[in-house]
Amino acid sequence: MTNRSFIQSDFALSESGLIAETVTFVVEDGILVDRVPKFICGHAHETHDYQEKTVLIPPLTNAHCHLELSQISLTPQSDFFLWVSELIQKKNSPNYNPHQAIKHGVDKLYREGVRTIFNHHSFDTPVTAYENVSEFVINIGEVLGLSLQRSEEIYNKFKEQKNKNPSAWHTLSPHAPYSLHEKMTHRLLEEFKSQSIHFLEARDESYFFDPTVKELPQNGITNLLAKFEQNESVIKNNIDQILEASNDFLLIHANHFTNAMIQKIKNKIELDQKICIVHCPQSHQFFSHSDFPYEKISSAGIPVALGTDSSASCAQFSFWEDIRLFKKTYSLSWPKIMPLITKNALIPFHIKPHENAVGHPFRLCRVSNKFLAL
Ligand SMILES: [Zn+2]
Repeated sequence: MTNRSFIQSDFALSESGLIAETVTFVVEDGILVDRVPKFICGHAHETHDYQEKTVLIPPLTNAHCHLELSQISLTPQSDFFLWVSELIQKKNSPNYNPHQAIKHGVDKLYREGVRTIFNHHSFDTPVTAYENVSEFVINIGEVLGLSLQRSEEIYNKFKEQKNKNPSAWHTLSPHAPYSLHEKMTHRLLEEFKSQSIHFLEARDESYFFDPTVKELPQNGITNLLAKFEQNESVIKNNIDQILEASNDFLLIHANHFTNAMIQKIKNKIELDQKICIVHCPQSHQFFSHSDFPYEKISSAGIPVALGTDSSASCAQFSFWEDIRLFKKTYSLSWPKIMPLITKNALIPFHIKPHENAVGHPFRLCRVSNKFLAL
């Protein structure tokens, strides 16, 4: 017997971004068979779900997150070095519980309609923490280590995790150009096709190749490098490697893209390399970064996706807060913003985007309309 449901809502947001009022979806055995722009009166026993003041949305994708930091909050500041020091302190405190934080983070995002989370996880976080949430999480193991020996130790720890639990992580990526030995960057780019890398987030990362940046800031990432007695050319060499590679990338932040870099990425996309820039609006505000070059990037045809980063760098750990802030900053309409929060981030990882079209599996999420500020 066919299992037929009428799924009704006051409002619905479709993949094309249009809001239909009083919409009814007719679903048979999980397949969307009809979509009508009004309530239809099914028999009471056939009406699967009806609630006022909710909205139906396509499954959302959070393009960048650190779930293990979901219960840590830190003071907003522009000194990255101080922020990292405070973060390490909190992670070492006896109250820090990554299992609980990961569960909390996934629950929160799930209630907001997020069904795919690109999550960066540390070598010291037990992968058992993801056991019950792995359905929604694409785990990226972030490899750190400015000395070759340290980076190999961390790489091997990830490999151990993978041996014990083959689904532990999806890919290994360099954490950032400033935090990894060049040889390890090379090895990871060779070994893993899809990568997710923190890229040109802070101003001092651009000092070494952008002639318009005249002075090295007194604080920030270069302080970290000095602490490890490393030559800053590591940043430039790693950036060059990443920009020359033919991998598929999520490049996170990219606040300091030069015009030449935008042109380079554009050329790569034209040659069918899959690259998407990830912007985390609240985190960007938290660190008082200079403007994210959204207009330049998007007008070059480079896809952008949105992420939350973590509660350690957000006023409010909420994907909708990020969406609202971004929508307001760039005065964007829903049709413009929908690909950034549903499908763009999936492409470099070769995940097929979902489509709520007639004949396809029905996958809409019901969320409170307060998220959309309707
Ligand atoms: Zn991050």
